[in-house]
Amino acid sequence: MAWDFETDPEYQQELDWVADFVKTEVEPLGFLIKHGYDMSDPVRNALIKPLQEKVKARGLWACHLGPELGGRGYGQVKLALLNEILGRAPWASIVFGCQAPDSGNAEILAHYGTPEQKEQWLEPLLDNEIVSCFSMTEPQGGADPKVFTTRAVQDGDEWVITGEKWFSSHASFSSFLIVMAVTDPDNPPYQQMSMFIVPTDSPGVEIIRDVGLGYEQAGHGTHAYMRYNDVRVPAANMLGDRGGAFVVAQTRLGGGRIHHAMRTVGQVQKAFDMMCERAVSRTTQGELLGKKQLVQGMIADSWIELEQFRLLVMRTAWRIDKYKDYKRVRKDISAVKAAMPKVFHDVAARALQIHGSLGVSEEMPFSAMVIESFHMGLADGPTEVHKVTVARQVLSEYQPAPGLFPTGHIPTRREAVLAQYADVIERAVEQL
Ligand SMILES: Cc1cc2nc3c(=O)[nH]c(=O)nc-3n(C[C@H](O)[C@H](O)[C@H](O)COP(=O)(O)OP(=O)(O)OC[C@H]3O[C@@H](n4cnc5c(N)ncnc54)[C@H](O)[C@@H]3O)c2cc1C
Repeated sequence: MAWDFETDPEYQQELDWVADFVKTEVEPLGFLIKHGYDMSDPVRNALIKPLQEKVKARGLWACHLGPELGGRGYGQVKLALLNEILGRAPWASIVFGCQAPDSGNAEILAHYGTPEQKEQWLEPLLDNEIVSCFSMTEPQGGADPKVFTTRAVQDGDEWVITGEKWFSSHASFSSFLIVMAVTDPDNPPYQQMSMFIVPTDSPGVEIIRDVGLGYEQAGHGTHAYMRYNDVRVPAANMLGDRGGAFVVAQTRLGGGRIHHAMRTVGQVQKAFDMMCERAVSRTTQGELLGKKQLVQGMIADSWIELEQFRLLVMRTAWRIDKYKDYKRVRKDISAVKAAMPKVFHDVAARALQIHGSLGVSEEMPFSAMVIESFHMGLADGPTEVHKVTVARQVLSEYQPAPGLFPTGHIPTRREAVLAQYADVIERAVEQL
C-alpha cells in the first residue's frame, strides 16, 4: 500500500526549522520594510540579506530549482509542505529565493536563454541581486491574449517594440522585463507572438503609473501600467522561437500556479487560526463566540474547506512528481487554481465577520486577504477559464449514451438486467 499522509522525520525536522524561522525572523519583516522587491531600499537590504544567508547556510535556498541551477531539486510534494509555511509571512518567498514572478522568469531563462543571457540575467536573478517583471497583460484584455496589440518589428539586428502593457508587477523595481509582443500578425492566432528580454533601463521604456490593489494607499502600488515607445533590443533578446511566446509562457505557468496555491494554503490557515483564536476569546451575551452554533458552523465549514483544498494541492503536487508532465496534470492544476480564490475568500471573509468591526478595520489583515483572494482568481488566468479547462478535460473522458435514454435510465436498465438473468429467474421459479 502506497497511500501515506506522513512526512518523513528527517524532512519534518527541516520543516520545523523553517516554521520557527519564519515565525520569529521573517514575519516581523512585514512591519519593518515597505516592499520586499525594492532592491534600492537600504532597510530592506539590511534586514533581508542576512536572513537569506541563513537560508542558504541551511541548504534551503531556491529549493524549487534543480541542482544544475543551485537548488535542491525538491519534488512538488516537498515544496508544498515548505511553501505552505512560507505563505504565512509576506516576504518569506524572497527570503527563501522562490518569489514570483522571478521564479517563473528564471525558468524561462534557464530553458531558452543563451549562455550570455544566463550570465547577465539568470545568475543575478537566482541570487536575488536583481528582480524581474513579466509584462504580458494589456489594457484592452488579459484573459484573451489574442487581443494583444503590442508589436515588435525587426529592424536589421534589432527588434523595435511598441505598445502598452497593464499590471506588469514590480516593473519599477526590475532590472529586466520579459515582454510578449506580436511579431507575426499573419500567423495563426497562437503563433503570432514572441517573447523578449527588455532591460528596464532601455530608452523608451515608460512606466505611466504604478497601480495599487484596493487595500493599498494611492501611490503605493507596484503593478505598472507601461508604455513601450519604440524600444530597441538586440535580435538575440528573443526568448524561444519566433512566434513561440505561448509555448514559452506555458513553461513558467505550470509550476507558478501550483506554488501560488501551496502558499495560499498557508494564508488560509493563518486566517483560520485567527478566526479560531477570536472564537475562544470573545464573549457576547454571556458566552464565548465559539459556543454559538452559527459561529461553530463557520468554523466547521472553514476547516473542511481548508483541508479539502490542502488535499487537492498535495494530490496535484504528487501527480506532478509522478508523471513529470504538466500536460498530463493540466486538469489538476486548473482545479487547484479554480478552488484557491474561493477557499481563501470564504475563510478570510468569515474570519473578518467573527472579528466584527475590528475585523473590517485596517487594524486587522482580513480586508487585504479578501482582496488578495481576488488576485488569486485573476493572475495566471481567471477562475472561469480554469473551470472551462477542468470541465473540458473531464468531459473528454466520457462517451455519449448509445441509445435514446441515458445509461442510468431505470426502466431501460431493468429491462436489460431482466433479459440477462431471465434463465436464472425462470429456473428458480420452476423450483418453487
Ligand atoms: C495582483 C495582480 C498581479 C498581476 N500581475 C501580472 C503580471 O505581473 N504580468 C502580467 O502580464 N499580468 C499580470 N496580471 C494580470 C492578469 O494576468 C490579468 O488580470 C488576467 O489575465 C485577467 O485579465 P484582465 O484583468 O484584463 O481581465 P479580462 O480579460 O477583462 O477578464 C475580466 C473577467 O471576465 C471574465 N472572463 C474572462 N474570460 C472569460 C472566459 N473565457 N469565460 C468566462 N468569463 C471570462 C472573468 O470573470 C474575468 O475576471 C496581474 C493581475 C493581478 C490582479
